Amino acid sequence: MPYFGKFRVASPYGSRKDPITGQKNTWHGGMDLVGLDSKEVHAPVNGTVLRSRMVTDRTNRTWEWGNYVSVAGDDGYTYYLCHLSERRVNQGERVRAGQIIGIEGSTGRSTGSHLHFEVRNSSGTAVDPSAILGIPNEAGYVHDGGNSVSPWAQEAVNWALAEEILLGDGRGNLMPQKPCTREEMAVFLHRLYKHLRKEG
Ligand SMILES: [Zn+2]
Repeated sequence: MPYFGKFRVASPYGSRKDPITGQKNTWHGGMDLVGLDSKEVHAPVNGTVLRSRMVTDRTNRTWEWGNYVSVAGDDGYTYYLCHLSERRVNQGERVRAGQIIGIEGSTGRSTGSHLHFEVRNSSGTAVDPSAILGIPNEAGYVHDGGNSVSPWAQEAVNWALAEEILLGDGRGNLMPQKPCTREEMAVFLHRLYKHLRKEG
């Protein structure tokens, strides 16, 4: 999930009324999401940062995205996270699912703070991101953040992701490895044990 906590679908993928011109049946290649608990935007999958930039040249259509980060996911899809107020990763950098890549904003062609979340397949065609996120493609839908963690535990989760002790699956779930073999679980326990011993 691009957000750890609650978020709302402000505008679905597909045909819609353009929010700026009011024109009906205009194509929307992604979903517009608004973070309700936090404006931190996370990498949805493990991958490599394809672009992290702000295009101001209006002849380049990507200026509409403002400040954006695209991630070439290890799953073969490319993820676009747009209108950010801040970018926290650089082009070419490896990112892990759950890592913060930026902060939600309203840069580019935007009427208010939101995240334009777009997913393209290997042939460059935009696909329905709701299917990938496992949520309805429906304006107003609020994802309850069932996979978010209690605020007091968030720091530990951030640490475990940064140390690669836990991995995310892109839907907000966390796991040692996938699929988890005996050896992988042993490595997970070893890292955790070492850290706890250090702390103790
Ligand atoms: Zn959008």
